[in-house]
Amino acid sequence: MKAFEYAAPRTEAEILQVMSAEPGATEVLAGGTDLVGLMKKMLVTPDRVVNIMDVPTLKTIDELPDGSISIGAAVTLDLILDHPYLDVYPAVKQAIRGINSMQLQCQGTLGGEICQRPRCWFYRNGLGLLGTQADQGANQYHAILGNAGPAKFVNSSRIAPALIALDAQVRVIGPGEEDEAWLPVSEFFRTPRHDGQREHVLQPQQVVTHVILPPIAGRTCATYEVRDSEGPDYPLAAASVALRFDGFGIIHEAKVVMGQVAPTPWNSQEAARLLIGHAVDSQRAEQAGLAAVRMASPLSENQYKVQLAKVAVKRAVLLAAGQDPGGF
Ligand SMILES: Cc1cc2nc3c(=O)[nH]c(=O)nc-3n(C[C@H](O)[C@H](O)[C@H](O)COP(=O)(O)OP(=O)(O)OC[C@H]3O[C@@H](n4cnc5c(N)ncnc54)[C@H](O)[C@@H]3O)c2cc1C
Repeated sequence: MKAFEYAAPRTEAEILQVMSAEPGATEVLAGGTDLVGLMKKMLVTPDRVVNIMDVPTLKTIDELPDGSISIGAAVTLDLILDHPYLDVYPAVKQAIRGINSMQLQCQGTLGGEICQRPRCWFYRNGLGLLGTQADQGANQYHAILGNAGPAKFVNSSRIAPALIALDAQVRVIGPGEEDEAWLPVSEFFRTPRHDGQREHVLQPQQVVTHVILPPIAGRTCATYEVRDSEGPDYPLAAASVALRFDGFGIIHEAKVVMGQVAPTPWNSQEAARLLIGHAVDSQRAEQAGLAAVRMASPLSENQYKVQLAKVAVKRAVLLAAGQDPGGF
């Protein structure tokens, strides 16, 4: 590991004072479950690590005056699982439960979960993130959507699809001490086009401080993951769905967001369109799944993910509608 300076700010203003404007010179340390491994492998080599876990404002879950729920970026995932304010957002809790490791849930934070680096094994083995040989083989866990450019990896966050389906926002501070922005989680992620770009839109001196979930306001939601084991591993495909029904069981609003299929969480408007104006039954859910993967362009070894992503959408729709999703 490269030697580095360590900073432990106590306030949001102090965080910004110790962040560098130079890309890669400072890294935020939250639970460290991802960052420390990357630093040990010298894939990330900051001059300074900024531990945000001693900043009290980043460690609370609060109800805002409009009924939104604000979750600090340094809140650990186990606290989110246990918190009664979040019972009305089962899609979020289901995604966290999927991690299926008490150690990771107790150590990993919400900010770290959405900012974690891709699990792409080319990247993790020092072969870079973009323009890798992923299009030629060993791509069974790579993207089936949004993969036309040099990015073939999938976004690793399990929780982000649920946050996007629920119209959540992130609060970002920096680069200046007075700077603060709220942006939809759907606009937080991007597909990098060159090596200097990250998988999110944060500038080097910007930090996520909170995730804000708007009031559930009558919506229902669910996350469904297709996994190859029960262990603490990433799903092969996942979907989070939020639905609003009218008084007659007809879907009035729908959001369908897939995870682990593209370099960003993948918001399928095609699937949402198929749901709006209809009641949910197995056939309608299946059609939504089909629509969600219609534009898929699998690589040489991940054709199977198309079927899994379709199933994930179908079952997330059924779960969100309070119906038996089938399966195991
Ligand atoms: C063995 C193992 C298995 C894992 N399995 C899973 C799994 O099954 N599912 C899963 O989802 N995850 C898994 N993870 C990944 C990861 O541990 C978790 O997702 C965790 O939530 C990351 O949070 P953290 O606080 O530890 O992040 P850290 O490691 O502290 O940070 C991760 C990244 O986010 C950045 N960051 C952190 N907080 C902020 C912030 N507030 N603003 C800006 N940038 C920030 C850091 O600089 C770093 O680049 C696994 C990790 C390990 C080591």
